[in-house]
Amino acid sequence: MNEIVYDVIIVGAGPAGLAAALYTSRDRLKTLMLEKLAPGGQINTTDRIENYPGIERIDGPTLIEQMQKQVVNFGAEIKSGSEVTKLEKLKNGNITVYCDKDKCTARAVILAPGSSYRKLGVPGEEEFRNAGAGVSYCGTCDAPFFKGKHVVSIGGGNTAVEETLHIAKYAGKVTMIHRRDEFRASKVLVEELLAKANEPKSNLIIKYNTIATAIQGKDKVQSVRLKNVKSNKEEDYSCDGVFIFVGMEPNTDFLKGFVELTKRGFIKCDCAYLRTSVPGVFVAGDCRAGAAMQLATAVGDGVLAAMMLKEYYRNPAWWKEPVKT
Ligand code: NAP
Repeated sequence: MNEIVYDVIIVGAGPAGLAAALYTSRDRLKTLMLEKLAPGGQINTTDRIENYPGIERIDGPTLIEQMQKQVVNFGAEIKSGSEVTKLEKLKNGNITVYCDKDKCTARAVILAPGSSYRKLGVPGEEEFRNAGAGVSYCGTCDAPFFKGKHVVSIGGGNTAVEETLHIAKYAGKVTMIHRRDEFRASKVLVEELLAKANEPKSNLIIKYNTIATAIQGKDKVQSVRLKNVKSNKEEDYSCDGVFIFVGMEPNTDFLKGFVELTKRGFIKCDCAYLRTSVPGVFVAGDCRAGAAMQLATAVGDGVLAAMMLKEYYRNPAWWKEPVKT
């Protein structure tokens, strides 16, 4: 039997990949999406999206369910539980994508594998790494496990602020620590956070200029070693759990040696057309160099990469052409 050659294989079924698939499937291109887990990626762990234009408020899983339905209705095929391990450019220009037990070939590929939680890298983080033992990277998922308890949340970005506000709905007390005295998060979120911390009898405390140097306990978290980076004062701070929100790392290990990556592992591309170093391989979303790491921009990337496919099909030499001005 002849092997199916897809028009496009999309690696990753998060917002970027699903947006790309919407456009390719509406263009009647034979589209296969390969997803390591289930569609959605990081956005599945968000219970409140209120910066996606046109939608006042929605949770991640609902949005993803709708996006998924939309692409499947237009004919895209989604294979969940398919972890891509390797890609290979063939002499005829096609690209073979290898999964654990399977391989498939396409005329072009859109890489949209997203990003994962960055680790703090302190003693105890690995040892207590599940919500039962006390270390978590997802407040949306694990906050209910800490009802009435005292938790420490770490970070100063949008995720840290949003997730800390969510955790405060469940926990008896939340101590948020940030390594500086100014938040990276959007002003509107910081205002909400400070308003919550300033409420009379608030269960939210913020400690600035503070880092965690160890997570400690016996079988489960019992305290965090805190250090004030200005005074160098250290203390063992009692708590039942630690939520770590210190940013994201691109999921690109499997691409080493195939496409060019930056030192931090982001996929190099030209930002106008999202072409990578390998002809026929586009990139979209959080995993690319220069990504704004937003839902709306990931979706925009997916759409752009899908539209650029046609330029490549029309003329593969277009890959090397400079960006039109
Ligand atoms: P982020 O914006 O990179 O913020 C990471 C935070 O962790 C920063 O405050 C950083 O401190 C701190 N940090 C990093 N390494 C640390 C360490 N080793 N020890 C202590 N603190 C450390 O990451 P994010 O909040 O996960 O967000 C990722 C992207 O998604 C961002 O572009 C963000 O805007 C976006 N996002 C948007 C929304 C939204 O718009 N609603 C929601 C979630 C995420 P410094 O500030 O000192 O560097």
